[in-house]
Amino acid sequence: MRQPQPDQDLTRLAFRVEKQTAVLFPLAVHHLKLELSVADGYGTGGDGSGVRGTNASSSTERAAAMRYGLTTDLEEIMEERAELIAKETHLTERLRKILGERAPRHVPTLCDGRGLAGWELPWEKGSRDPNNGWSRPDCREVAGPSGLCDACRVRCARYRTEHDLKPLSEEQVTAA
Ligand SMILES: [Zn+2]
Repeated sequence: MRQPQPDQDLTRLAFRVEKQTAVLFPLAVHHLKLELSVADGYGTGGDGSGVRGTNASSSTERAAAMRYGLTTDLEEIMEERAELIAKETHLTERLRKILGERAPRHVPTLCDGRGLAGWELPWEKGSRDPNNGWSRPDCREVAGPSGLCDACRVRCARYRTEHDLKPLSEEQVTAA
């Protein structure tokens, strides 16, 4: 029987998530926060000069309604994002459970060192700072069994040696 090929719908979904959702999401969050700070500027006395009391109070109400709408949008997209991530994790775990021992030993995945020490300090190319980090959060290389691509693994290994951490092989981030 022919070896099953990667699912095309999921491959396209991954592409859309990377090229659209991941790009639009932070822009939308930024936009909502800007709008929120504008809404916060109203109703704090800024435009309530006292001359037109009725207008001032209705603008305060409008600002409150605006704030409510923006906050709701923000909370809901944060929630949807978390659900989307959780769904993928859940499905993948289920597939692995179904396959058990039959799951490929190493499924190619993208370089991801989020679970590793020093991740919070990104590496700066060409930096001579002795405290330059090792991580590259935007790395899109295919990872090896360590969960990192070759270049990141080398930098990470160096960082670990310098910081007296146990070698990478003893702290792998790979899933299964
Ligand atoms: Zn990498």
